Amino acid sequence: MAHSQDILVTRSSMPSMQEYFEEVASLWDTHWLTNMGVKHQELERMLKDYLMVPNIALFTNGHSALECILEAMDLEGEVITTPYSFASTTHAIVRKGLKPVFADIKYDDYTLDPESIERAITPRTTAIVPVHVYGNLCDVDAINAIADRHGLKVIYDAAHAFGAKRRNVEGIWEGAASFGDASMFSFHATKVFNTIEGGAVAFKDDGLYEVLNQWKNFGIMGPEDVEYIGGNAKMNEFCAAMGICNLRHIDEELAKRKQVAECYWENLSGVEGLKLSLPSHDVEYNYAYMPVVFEESAPLSRDEAFDALASCGIGARKYFYPLISDYACYRDDYDSGNTPTAQDVASRVLTLPMYADLPLDDINRICAIVSGQDA
Ligand SMILES: *Cc1c(COP(=O)(O)O)cnc(C)c1O
Repeated sequence: MAHSQDILVTRSSMPSMQEYFEEVASLWDTHWLTNMGVKHQELERMLKDYLMVPNIALFTNGHSALECILEAMDLEGEVITTPYSFASTTHAIVRKGLKPVFADIKYDDYTLDPESIERAITPRTTAIVPVHVYGNLCDVDAINAIADRHGLKVIYDAAHAFGAKRRNVEGIWEGAASFGDASMFSFHATKVFNTIEGGAVAFKDDGLYEVLNQWKNFGIMGPEDVEYIGGNAKMNEFCAAMGICNLRHIDEELAKRKQVAECYWENLSGVEGLKLSLPSHDVEYNYAYMPVVFEESAPLSRDEAFDALASCGIGARKYFYPLISDYACYRDDYDSGNTPTAQDVASRVLTLPMYADLPLDDINRICAIVSGQDA
């Protein structure tokens, strides 16, 4: 069915072939392809700078990064998180032997509702894993206050939030990596910033750097010393090199995405019943996704819009649908009725095609279809 006119929901950003080849050429001299080589070190340096954080550890993907930081924090018991996310968030918690407890989201930005977090806390709660959904930063001050009050760790799933910033109450700009005890980023091919596959954890506690490096390398402490039952989650040099190239162009990437987003918003903001995610002031948005919630009064339902786009060869994603708590592997243990806002949004949301080079003509066509103007 796929043909050349298809518009996909996303399209990976790449440097020029020339730039990438120049970046990786030295690897033919050194033959050092993985295990924290020079590209790995360089990318860590660049990312610390860009994300304005003291510590960062790279991983083979975001999911492994999240599993590793949960492991390194040595948590037990219950972890409060959101059912309105990608499978990875809850899977990482469960795979580390922890029990996920789902709190509800806020309708305005789809991130965890601090009041719902508070209600989900029990004596067994040890951490909160919130998600900056679509790059919308969570209510970090309220979450921080809850964590302080109850002595909980906060580990953000910041997979969507690379490049997002906010101005805090003191007027200081803070990047998405600044909040909680640690933040996981995904550098998957579909994300705003990619290393083909890749991920990272940014964190406050300097002591965690060595521990994370050991966890991602089989728990090896030295040539004859293996202390932890670690896994293998190292980023290789070719992926790090892709990251170095893509990070050079990140400002341009965000500027192009901004143009795409503004074209969508201009087209769609007057349409009754379509709820858009417009950035508030004091926020620098990263334009990672183009979520639209089809409310009752919208010209089409979410599923009608999805089908109308599909019939024109345009990909959209029901993202996030179903809720994680409705997956076959979780639904026997959870009732999504306990998170009614998440349940409602999941049944109405569509993310529209969003990438830096999406032509404006295509956006106009997509907007006409979802507004019911195009038969
Ligand atoms: C992409 C993503 C992940 C997982 O990242 P990978 O790099 O693909 O392992 C986790 N959480 C969210 C919200 C994501 O979008």
